[in-house]
Amino acid sequence: MISVNAPDPDQITKAQELIINQKIKKIKGDNFENFYVVTGSREIDHLVVLPNFCSCEDFQVRGLKTPGKVCYHIVGASMAKKVPADDFPEWYTLLNPDR
Ligand SMILES: [Zn+2]
Repeated sequence: MISVNAPDPDQITKAQELIINQKIKKIKGDNFENFYVVTGSREIDHLVVLPNFCSCEDFQVRGLKTPGKVCYHIVGASMAKKVPADDFPEWYTLLNPDR
């Protein structure tokens, strides 16, 4: 069982902004249930694999050294996962429509 620390309030605020600004996209496909692309600051795309992987520098430098620590991209993707896709067709983008 992988434990993930509770996000701090600042992370939650930034994660909500990601959702509101449609910065989180779900990767479609049977084998990609937990895969997301999150566009962070400076418009850089990061790969997020829930529950606890992100390709961003912050997570690679700090997250991997601290068990349970996640970045706000991961927080955003986990929040997005709980929302039914039908409610937000704008940001639930089909990145791999052929699958
Ligand atoms: Zn990240």
